[in-house]
Amino acid sequence: MSNADQAELDKFSQLAHRWWDANSEFKPLHDINPLRLEWIANLAGGLQGKRVVDVGCGGGILSESMALAGAQVTGIDLAEKPLKVAKLHQLESGAQVDYRLIAAEDLADAEPESFDVVTCMEMLEHVPDPVSVMTACARMAKPDGWVFFSTLNRNPKSYLFAIVGAEYVLNMLPKGTHDWSKFIKPHELAAFARQAGLESVELMGMTYNPFSKTYRLERDTDVNYLLACRRAG
Ligand code: SAH
Repeated sequence: MSNADQAELDKFSQLAHRWWDANSEFKPLHDINPLRLEWIANLAGGLQGKRVVDVGCGGGILSESMALAGAQVTGIDLAEKPLKVAKLHQLESGAQVDYRLIAAEDLADAEPESFDVVTCMEMLEHVPDPVSVMTACARMAKPDGWVFFSTLNRNPKSYLFAIVGAEYVLNMLPKGTHDWSKFIKPHELAAFARQAGLESVELMGMTYNPFSKTYRLERDTDVNYLLACRRAG
């Protein structure tokens, strides 16, 4: 019944104990976090005092950083171990996130129109029905609320960079982390957003330079990208 792929959830549970090791397979998430946090905060007009839900929060890298920036954050995921790690980590960091094991669709039923900001990062490419998650994200947002997505583009270059490069050449991610066929083109994501009742506001690319080992936000959306949307008022 639920819109989740158990094998995907197990994959994240098996690695969860290393989530906060910035040199582990989660290094890319640690490295991109300051960039996406700043982008989200700028577009949303700051995070101080905002109610935020982070969908597919995993071990809480983005959730915690938004809480530390002053937001009141709920983090939801369907994998148990990453949520356990997230709860333990905040004992150390002092962040205060309300972590819950609940599907986005179920939280949207329970708390519609409740959040100023909804984030759903690096998650849609792991889900059977991304439109259902996006619709739930839209329903959780208050009128005029912000909804942010990030995922991977689907083209030959993204196969080369995100699968061959990241998983086989550079060993940045475990082999099998991503299924290229589940990647989503930006125009597809924008169409899904529209179907979900969202207006696309800004499409932003994210690139990785393997020589300097740094990420940047820029116009190039060929591989990684983010989409900022607003719910109609
Ligand atoms: N959003 C976090 C973690 C990305 S990793 C970040 O960017 O830092 C992908 C996460 O999506 C994992 O924690 C995984 O458990 C979660 N996930 C996968 N399928 C899901 C589903 N159907 N519902 C909720 N979370 C899911």
